[in-house]
Amino acid sequence: MDWLSEDQRALRDMAETFARKDVEPLANQIDIEEETPDDLIRKAAEIGLFGLYTSPEYGGAGADLVSVCLVSEELAKASPAFAGMLTVQMVLCPKTVEILGTEEQKQRILPANSSGERLMAYSQSEPGGAANIAAHLTRVVPEGEGYRIDGSKLFCTQGTAETYLVMCKTKDRAGNEGYGCVIVEREDEGFQVHPYENKLGWRGTNTGPISFDNVYLDETDILGDLLTGGFSHRAANHANLLSHVATSIGCAQGLFDKTLENVKQRRLYGKDMAELQPVSYWLAEAHAKIQACRALLYNTVREFEAGTMAPEMPNVCKAYIGETAFDVCVRLVQLWGGSGIMNSTGVNRYMRDARAKCVAEGATEMHYAIIANQLLHGQPTLVPNGIVKTKDGR
Ligand SMILES: Cc1cc2nc3c(=O)[nH]c(=O)nc-3n(C[C@H](O)[C@H](O)[C@H](O)COP(=O)(O)OP(=O)(O)OC[C@H]3O[C@@H](n4cnc5c(N)ncnc54)[C@H](O)[C@@H]3O)c2cc1C
Repeated sequence: MDWLSEDQRALRDMAETFARKDVEPLANQIDIEEETPDDLIRKAAEIGLFGLYTSPEYGGAGADLVSVCLVSEELAKASPAFAGMLTVQMVLCPKTVEILGTEEQKQRILPANSSGERLMAYSQSEPGGAANIAAHLTRVVPEGEGYRIDGSKLFCTQGTAETYLVMCKTKDRAGNEGYGCVIVEREDEGFQVHPYENKLGWRGTNTGPISFDNVYLDETDILGDLLTGGFSHRAANHANLLSHVATSIGCAQGLFDKTLENVKQRRLYGKDMAELQPVSYWLAEAHAKIQACRALLYNTVREFEAGTMAPEMPNVCKAYIGETAFDVCVRLVQLWGGSGIMNSTGVNRYMRDARAKCVAEGATEMHYAIIANQLLHGQPTLVPNGIVKTKDGR
């Protein structure tokens, strides 16, 4: 990638060093114990990763999305799970606040997120289907001078967060209904974080249910327009998807690098393992697939930055690169024989993380449905705004 600027290269190198020195030694432990040490989160915040994509006036570095993807990729080479957790902190949550928030909300939330003082979470999924928002039951309704929220959410990543951005059905004082975004703080009365799930992949990111029992919100807790905030931060969703895809590439590349070294060192049947023709072929094929995915991603990211990106491209990247990275990881794990199946080697966690990435941030099939909607109906979304008014929609 000769076209990278000096600043972009410097950030990539900084992330590579941090990943090698601080993340890699803990990556197996995070996976096995399903817990990310606070110290690692603190170090990531200290070197400015949380605020990397946030504007300088809110405590961030104001880096571009290419830099964010480079950093995400480097971290994912060591721990795809840790990198996945960081993209939520670095991109999805702060960018949503930057797009939707008032000045007061930005000053209240973003500097504390950039410094790592208060982690954030983005919560949409419900039992009726994460993207099937017509079936969502969590609701915000007027209450006195403010509002109250009732309901529950599933699969909320970073249950240790302090500030939660919650997408939910909303009603204004005139009885109009919509889909909004509200801010719920961990200490709010009636808000509860339930025990985390034990997961196949992306372990250590604290994913689990949360619930709201008559939680009171005032006007300053409504992010963006009450009736449309849940839909109207598409640039944050797109940037998030692309940085998430960068972690899929880092995941495949991280396992590829380790596998290449292992193959080079191993001897089988009295000769170098690399001389077994299928082995060298599979390595070459994995390399080709990773390079093709990387070219697709960074081309899309540059178009995003230039404002020339076709609307379905983040979905194209998420669906295609996510599944390709998983296929590559499955093949690479096989090249380790029994060692690939043993958790102690830290090999198969890449494959499990790659699978989790094909569901987190939207299942592959849902992204293909959005692409199809764009191609067939010129609508780059799965759920047109009006559908939230369907009362019994499932
Ligand atoms: C590790 C992890 C972390 C997560 N973190 C968060 C988080 O922080 N916040 C949050 O809100 N959610 C989070 N999620 C939830 C995630 O976004 C959803 O699991 C995902 O969007 C799929 O939704 P679902 O589980 O409701 O599956 P469903 O919507 O029930 O879908 C089930 C299956 O049906 C198929 N399908 C779904 N939609 C379509 C379609 N339109 N067309 C064709 N087939 C389709 C797919 O095969 C899909 O896997 C996380 C999930 C994981 C695994």
